[in-house]
Amino acid sequence: MDGRTETAGGSARFHEGRDGLYINGAWRTAAAAERIEVVDPATEQVIARVPAGDARDVDAAVQAARAALPGWAATAPARRASVLEAAAELMAGQREEIAATVTAELGAPPAFAAAVHADLPTAVLGSYAELARGHAFEERIGSSTVLHEPVGVVGAITPWNYPLHQVVAKVAPALAAGCSVVLKPAEDTPLVAQLFARILDEAGVPAGVFNLVTGVGPVAGRALAEHPGVDMVSFTGSTAVGRQIGAAAGGAVKRVALELGGKSANVILPGADLARAVNVGAANVFANSGQTCSAWTRMLVDAARYEQAVELAAAAAEKYVPGERLGPLVSAEQRERVRGYIRKGVEEGARVVAGGPEAPEGLASGYYVRPTVFADVRPEMTIAQEEIFGPVLALIPYQDEEDALRIANGTVYGLAGAVWGADQEQAVAFARRMDTGQVDINGGRFNPLAPFGGYKQSGVGRELGPHGLAEYLQTKSLQF
Ligand code: NAD
Repeated sequence: MDGRTETAGGSARFHEGRDGLYINGAWRTAAAAERIEVVDPATEQVIARVPAGDARDVDAAVQAARAALPGWAATAPARRASVLEAAAELMAGQREEIAATVTAELGAPPAFAAAVHADLPTAVLGSYAELARGHAFEERIGSSTVLHEPVGVVGAITPWNYPLHQVVAKVAPALAAGCSVVLKPAEDTPLVAQLFARILDEAGVPAGVFNLVTGVGPVAGRALAEHPGVDMVSFTGSTAVGRQIGAAAGGAVKRVALELGGKSANVILPGADLARAVNVGAANVFANSGQTCSAWTRMLVDAARYEQAVELAAAAAEKYVPGERLGPLVSAEQRERVRGYIRKGVEEGARVVAGGPEAPEGLASGYYVRPTVFADVRPEMTIAQEEIFGPVLALIPYQDEEDALRIANGTVYGLAGAVWGADQEQAVAFARRMDTGQVDINGGRFNPLAPFGGYKQSGVGRELGPHGLAEYLQTKSLQF
């Protein structure tokens, strides 16, 4: 953490290398004097201070990105691929440091931090090196040659819940496509973004092609989203902020990608392996302390097996001991928000069968919430409609498949989901009727190359794999 930094006056070493913004290939002092305190959510201690960049800093970063764009766009895709490959190798080599950083600023348990927060983005970065190398950036359609060209300067705004994955899911395809990028990471988790900037620098990403401005959403995020020098805004975060960003992008007629919230359904059909479906479903919700946009937070079970499912889910929750397998929430604010939803569930008449709003026992510090399971949840209840973003599972009974489908599709969201059936055919037939962007069939595993994104208010556009690359390209047709 002692990266070299440069200022207009020459070279200087900033405190722990963290007190700078990465602009035009160098760490430089922010124009803004304000700092963001980064807090370890397990200890509640301040572990670092980073610049809270403002509109002047964003402007400097966008100018650097604009200046670097023509050169990077004209760089052969194979050369861009080599740079991404070098970055993926560096990331693999820094697995421990990445995991420790995410544990420190997000609170993720160390094993989960290594296996998911470090390994997943490393794999995604590697996949874009391959895609850049193999992608057909030109195609022939009749008498035309169609060129797939970079969209331009990308403003990327990311949340804290998978802090490196969400950064890589934007920056890797953008760089593969030939775009230049200004990244504004979440204020709660800027440290892993700084680590990533150092990795890209070491991998040989040319100056200005990637820029990092840490800062708060309404200042730096807004300045980036509204900057006329940004050709495309790619945002992951809450639906409320996504709506504002989409409106601003619409007004400026610029491309926008929005990855927003979710309230995904885990549909367990009659004849499915109930114990497996409930246990995998509970693990899906409690992973990352429930701070997963695609989490299957509504479990739908046929009325005949409902009570059995409730018992299984309550037993599964007991295994997620706060402070061990279950990390804290990212901040005191999130903890209060989640506890508020748990109280609301009780008020609206749902039955708590595990957890509850009280603080977990035996923990002197940390923003922990007890893993909570609600039974007797009706589809119209707040806890069955709104995204809670905490370790809270709602079990909803259904009468028949039509009822299950109506409930599954009965929210404003449509990001992910799961279906468990007696066989694949039954589950796939149900999944085809779901209004959602991803469905795992009978325990199908996450595929980092499959398009990820939402139907309805879960978003606009797709990330990951070739579909994620296409988001950062625009076409030009040459007629012969
Ligand atoms: P958030 O919307 O508050 O913040 C996300 C990012 O936007 C942060 O970098 C923040 O600084 C910035 N921001 C905030 N206000 C802004 C503004 N006015 N203008 C520009 N930028 C602004 O969301 P959060 O609380 O950090 O993240 C949780 C949310 O993200 C959840 O709703 C979750 O479902 C969603 N999410 C979605 C996906 C997905 O892929 N669909 C993935 C992860 C998280």
